[in-house]
Amino acid sequence: MVWKSIILLVLLIGVVTAAIGQTTAFVGVNVIPMDRERVITNQTVVVRNGTIAQIGDAARVKVPADALTVDARGKYLIPGLVDMHTHLLSDSDEYPDSIAPDELRVMVANGVTTVRFMIGTPELLKLRKRSATGEIAAPTIYVASPHLTGREQGNNFVVNTPEEAREAVRRSKAAGYDFIKITTFLKSLLYETAVDEAKKLNIRVVGHADSRFVGVERAWKAGQQIEHLDGYMELLLKADSPVKGSVSDLYIYNPDNWKSFDYMDETKIAEIARKTVASNPYVDPTQHFMKNTFGRLRTEEEIRVQPDFRFYPPKVQQQWLDFYKKNKFINTVSLERRARWVALREKLIKAIYEAGGKIMTGSDTPEFLWLYGFGIHHELKALKDSGISNYAVLAAGTRNAHEFFGTIDKAGTIEKGKRADLVLLNANPIDDISATKDRAGVMLKGRWYTQNELDAWLDEIAPKIAGSFIEHK
Ligand SMILES: [Zn+2]
Repeated sequence: MVWKSIILLVLLIGVVTAAIGQTTAFVGVNVIPMDRERVITNQTVVVRNGTIAQIGDAARVKVPADALTVDARGKYLIPGLVDMHTHLLSDSDEYPDSIAPDELRVMVANGVTTVRFMIGTPELLKLRKRSATGEIAAPTIYVASPHLTGREQGNNFVVNTPEEAREAVRRSKAAGYDFIKITTFLKSLLYETAVDEAKKLNIRVVGHADSRFVGVERAWKAGQQIEHLDGYMELLLKADSPVKGSVSDLYIYNPDNWKSFDYMDETKIAEIARKTVASNPYVDPTQHFMKNTFGRLRTEEEIRVQPDFRFYPPKVQQQWLDFYKKNKFINTVSLERRARWVALREKLIKAIYEAGGKIMTGSDTPEFLWLYGFGIHHELKALKDSGISNYAVLAAGTRNAHEFFGTIDKAGTIEKGKRADLVLLNANPIDDISATKDRAGVMLKGRWYTQNELDAWLDEIAPKIAGSFIEHK
């Protein structure tokens, strides 16, 4: 009996040490620290207690005797990826809350170690805490408030009076949300009231800039962090354009608004970029989502071979396949006009970047059969296609978000003392950004997972999520 207890005790200590005090050494690795554009070759990176403890020449750094050694020769270490705009399937009542930890693991398995949920729920606040305490293997979580909107849309504050605007902000702040999220149909006075209250309470405003009610110029004045480049197409319209609306936000579904692409004034782009940076340089265009959901249409064959397709239940798969086949606006708008929209968005992204903007990566998943985790790699590619360098794209996917959060002294680059959220790649992403999809493993808060382990997670989780769908009659 005594022996059994001792063995159990030793095992227990072993487990606890592995979880809290694991020391890991990446030996012979090429480090892309993201403090500035450079690759430091043949390094050893030692991680202890969740923190980067030492970085140095592999010939000189002594690997601690108790360390788990990762042979990383010829591989590339980058900071963990950030998804600045995502949601969970379990945010809706079509999936049980119990799948949320698995949803978060899908993100980790794809190298995403920090996320911002853009429509808050009390469940997400609980998950933020469970992640912070290490109870679940999950990215570091930020949660924006339930969205402030003029119409009932779910997980929202419907705001129709100034007092409701102040109350929504006060309640969000008191509940512990990290940001105030704005979406649509919020009248300008109520928007300004919400912004005023948010300033008083020292909580930042993020989200959409409804072109009919708020508009980018008002959002600039508020210093809001704008998502999706929302409202920007309307800014580009020529003054004498017979079409007054364009395709931001839900107005995307109005085929008439797509005619606006015959009346765009590209010479405005440089000034728009300058004003954006002067107001709030942090821009999260969710470019992949916009481009590959509305800008170009996926065929059924393309959708079916996506690696994330299997995570969706058959009914949801069919629903979106039908959407692409039957949706009226999809079939009305010419490919040529869509292409012009994508090209204008790309020019805006590039101009904002060149004006000193800090582009960030947001996937806006898991709607339209794009799953979180996988989606961030599409976003990196879409930003690259906008004409910015691979290094700038990688900064968008890593450090820029931590600058925005105000945590760059603790995370977001590979430097001594920083949180050990890391991704080990088999190839150099500065040469080819698609290297972020070719991973050897992920380190989450100092805990190392090989990509083989992570791929096994995905195999386990896919049928679990797909099978958890709750059908509402
Ligand atoms: Zn969203």
